[in-house]
Amino acid sequence: MGFSGAGATERNSKVDGPSVFRPQLGEASVGALAECKRVACRELLLCRMPDLSAPGVTKHVVVMGAGPAGLSAAYELTRHRTPVTVVEKDPMQVGGIARTLEFMGCRFDVGPHRFFSKSAEIEALWTEVLGDEIRSVSRLTRIMYRGKFFDYPIKASNAFLNLGPYETARCLLSYAQARLRPVVDPQSFEDWVSNQFGRRLFEIFFKTYTEKVWGIPTSELSADWAGQRIRGLNLVEVIRNALLPASWRGGGEGAIVKTLVDSFRYPRRGAGQMWEAVAARLAAAGHPVRLGDEVVAVRHANGRVISVVVKDRNGGTLDVLGSEFISTMPIRELIAKLEPAAPSIVRAAADALGYRDFITVNLVVDRANVFPDQWIYVHDPGVKVGRIGNFKNFSAAMVDDSGLTGLGMEYFCFEQDGMWSWPDADLLDLGRRELVALGIVRPEEVKAGMVYRQPKAYPVYDGEYLGHLAVVREWVSRALPNLWLVGRNGMHHYNNQDHSMMTGILVARNIALGANYDPWLVNTDAEYHEEERVGEGSGGDRGAGRQVPQRIAS
Ligand SMILES: Cc1cc2nc3c(=O)[nH]c(=O)nc-3n(C[C@H](O)[C@H](O)[C@H](O)COP(=O)(O)OP(=O)(O)OC[C@H]3O[C@@H](n4cnc5c(N)ncnc54)[C@H](O)[C@@H]3O)c2cc1C
Repeated sequence: MGFSGAGATERNSKVDGPSVFRPQLGEASVGALAECKRVACRELLLCRMPDLSAPGVTKHVVVMGAGPAGLSAAYELTRHRTPVTVVEKDPMQVGGIARTLEFMGCRFDVGPHRFFSKSAEIEALWTEVLGDEIRSVSRLTRIMYRGKFFDYPIKASNAFLNLGPYETARCLLSYAQARLRPVVDPQSFEDWVSNQFGRRLFEIFFKTYTEKVWGIPTSELSADWAGQRIRGLNLVEVIRNALLPASWRGGGEGAIVKTLVDSFRYPRRGAGQMWEAVAARLAAAGHPVRLGDEVVAVRHANGRVISVVVKDRNGGTLDVLGSEFISTMPIRELIAKLEPAAPSIVRAAADALGYRDFITVNLVVDRANVFPDQWIYVHDPGVKVGRIGNFKNFSAAMVDDSGLTGLGMEYFCFEQDGMWSWPDADLLDLGRRELVALGIVRPEEVKAGMVYRQPKAYPVYDGEYLGHLAVVREWVSRALPNLWLVGRNGMHHYNNQDHSMMTGILVARNIALGANYDPWLVNTDAEYHEEERVGEGSGGDRGAGRQVPQRIAS
């Protein structure tokens, strides 16, 4: 299965050259490390130096961030016996955005994280690490709109029944218009989706929720994102799936679209259980994650990164040296931390990358069964909440007391918004009031709650981001070839866990084995995450779907 994608070859175009892959510490590295030792010993409280002179030790990798990408990279490195140090700024927990929080015996993900991948390798890794602790879940998720529940994935029959004959007629008419007179070369999310579904259905099922999530008018969101997330789906396909038996739904090549997977896997005690388990394995292998170590500077000299400076939980400063460096930090932060500073054009490009932030108001409800869905999308424009997760419907073990229910209410915002800095009490009050307004609980049923703020939850795809990203990528690959960008914010790519993991794994192989994988090809032309075409195979490279790039021909 081929990989293609614009702007995918910067690093690869140089993979044959000596400057990209340095599995052995070359002269430049040794010189750089000597320079670092000198600087470090002069300026820092403590200089920790992997013993690169020990027999057989030629590499030491420093991983910045213990989310799915960083931990997967570290885990893969240890499989290849490559020494690694993982530094994580959070003092308590690994897992990054995929962590699981605990409050009053209820567990909450930072927004529900289901485990689904088209990559057989990633699925196998989840099984390897979690064994029986990861289980299959039958999906039930619906959309709430004007007090009614609509099936999600959208089913034509259910949608039209709920909308009633007048609204249905409007939808079909606007779909016919879109087919007859589509927007030519659609650039925005709005035009792209309207072409696929018609304007009226776009307004009901895509506009409100998308604008809640991104805080940007859909007319200004790039069509790229729509292409990545919902490609292959249009009204005809939705209706065909709703009306025809599975055996009649063949695509051009006989493929059956299992549109929008109806089951996924989930760890018994939340998404974070996976990452705690990987961290435990790393610790057992002698590479414990250094929690509470925040990267405050990334030092480079002679065209190579030589160390990262971390501030530890006691305020002390450490210099962590290595031969290769993997960053999962948001690109904007990474570039700002470079010493000496990156060229101004690169800093400006990184600074221009945008992010969407995210608050979860996690409420403990004194009722055993609140609704049967794992989550509900809230399309009503009258409330701020975008989605409500019900974690005990992922796994009964998400609550210690089966008489209680943990609901995670998701609010999308910008750090600069007023809402981000609202006091927790106000956010809890908002969550409770909105649950009541939606008719989901009675006020007295909400026992308690806690608020979690996740900065930079989403990399924003605006009209300019690709250009800015290209500037950063080109400079990093040319100027600092031992600095690898992986993960979601690490690559400014709207990756799920499996994509984030795969980028880390591929880079680990590049470092440990001298392989030529291009992590930038992961998820570039992936079909909608939830869609799988039966018949594409389930093993080896084919089963890995489009998430595993082909090896570049040498
Ligand atoms: C609401 C929501 C729902 C999601 N649902 C799903 C889902 O259902 N399924 C799925 O597969 N994926 C889902 N995802 C995506 C998934 O969370 C990400 O793909 C994944 O967490 C990205 O992993 P990462 O390691 O690249 O980044 P992160 O998870 O962001 O981890 C980066 C780590 O780096 C650390 N760090 C940052 N700066 C520094 C620093 N200066 N020094 C040291 N450490 C630092 C952070 O503390 C963090 O631990 C969802 C995401 C969101 C926001």
